[in-house]
Amino acid sequence: MTDTDVLVVGAGPTGLTLAGMLALRGVAATVVDGLPAGGNTSRAAAVNARSLEVLEELDVARRMVKEGLPAPRFSMRDRRSVLIPIDFSGLDTAYPYTLMLSQATTERLLAERLEELGVSVQRPLSVTAVVQDDDGVTATFDNGETLRARYVVGADGINSTVRQQAGIGFTGGEYAESFALADVRLQGEVPTDEVILFYARTGLTVEAPLPDGIHRIVAPLEHAPEEPTAAFVQELLDTRAFGPDRLRVTEVIWGSRFRIHHRVADTYHAGRLVLAGDAAHVYSPAGGQGMNLGIQDAVALSDALTAALGGDESALAGYSDQRRPIAEQVVTLTGRLTRVATLPSAARPLRNTLLRLAGTVPAVRHQLAWRLSGLAYR
Ligand SMILES: Cc1cc2nc3c(=O)[nH]c(=O)nc-3n(C[C@H](O)[C@H](O)[C@H](O)COP(=O)(O)OP(=O)(O)OC[C@H]3O[C@@H](n4cnc5c(N)ncnc54)[C@H](O)[C@@H]3O)c2cc1C
Repeated sequence: MTDTDVLVVGAGPTGLTLAGMLALRGVAATVVDGLPAGGNTSRAAAVNARSLEVLEELDVARRMVKEGLPAPRFSMRDRRSVLIPIDFSGLDTAYPYTLMLSQATTERLLAERLEELGVSVQRPLSVTAVVQDDDGVTATFDNGETLRARYVVGADGINSTVRQQAGIGFTGGEYAESFALADVRLQGEVPTDEVILFYARTGLTVEAPLPDGIHRIVAPLEHAPEEPTAAFVQELLDTRAFGPDRLRVTEVIWGSRFRIHHRVADTYHAGRLVLAGDAAHVYSPAGGQGMNLGIQDAVALSDALTAALGGDESALAGYSDQRRPIAEQVVTLTGRLTRVATLPSAARPLRNTLLRLAGTVPAVRHQLAWRLSGLAYR
């Protein structure tokens, strides 16, 4: 393989964004992914305002908005009772909403833009080892080939090979429960402009609208089924969300089970090896932060790598110092949103009263909107 300035390992949303931004900046980059094709499942479906802002330069925000569903409202509820209503529509941004869009569509739009910029993802090709020296990094692939790059970025997800090869710790833990996830069609009255976090005695449930009349349900459970059925989702909605006889699940379009950790890499760079996205941080899906930090990491990293290639030796440390504390804050916020749901039932009336009270304070609502939209991290 030909030598390159930057080897991007992984073509998820993080790697695709980074590769696109590097191409815009005229940096020679090679992108590889171990899978034969990009993901076609919906996974992280909430794109926040800050992600859309940073994707403007790549000319992808406009394309995503065209295909997505804007949800300007977010609320925390106990059954039908609203505890904290959050309105994004007053935020100072061109995107005063959460854009609901399947991750498969986000990845497709990013990959199409990358192709337009003349870069193709090389797949299936897995990195098995990276060894750095003073001048660069030698990467070895599963087909036995090697490549020299000046920098290697691990955008290779939660089990990052690059992070492990760099010897960077991934400090944190794992939630005891697994998360059930289902994209369904519903009959009955359900908002199509609002993401709802339900705090029921039996646990948290997220309900969010998606394009094409689909709704996303996510819930932590002690034993989540591998493939949720309509009856299972119905039970969740009846016991944890709007209550019985309000909505009927008519179809499960896609379902899955996943385990979630809350971890942040001890540093985002070790010499010429750099981390971004899930390789650098993972956290609860409550609050819909998902891939957003990864996209925002990627844009910041494209600047840092351009500077490093231009001789600025402090640029990568600067990237780590800037982005890592943001991940710590998101882990804390999403952890709180998740924990508040699993308080013992005796504490629930008090919790609801406190949340309702907090929800009457405009500054509290603004702070939450500011953080969930990612605008706090501009
Ligand atoms: C089933 C499922 C459901 C999810 N649901 C939600 C949700 O509801 N809400 C939410 O916010 N988030 C959800 N997530 C998480 C979300 O998908 C991630 O946060 C997001 O994909 C992170 O993007 P990334 O590009 O950093 O990493 P990834 O998307 O994980 O991409 C990493 C890429 O690197 C490739 N790769 C890995 N190792 C190598 C290697 N050694 N060599 C070459 N390539 C390699 C992989 O093939 C992969 O394509 C879900 C994830 C899963 C799996």
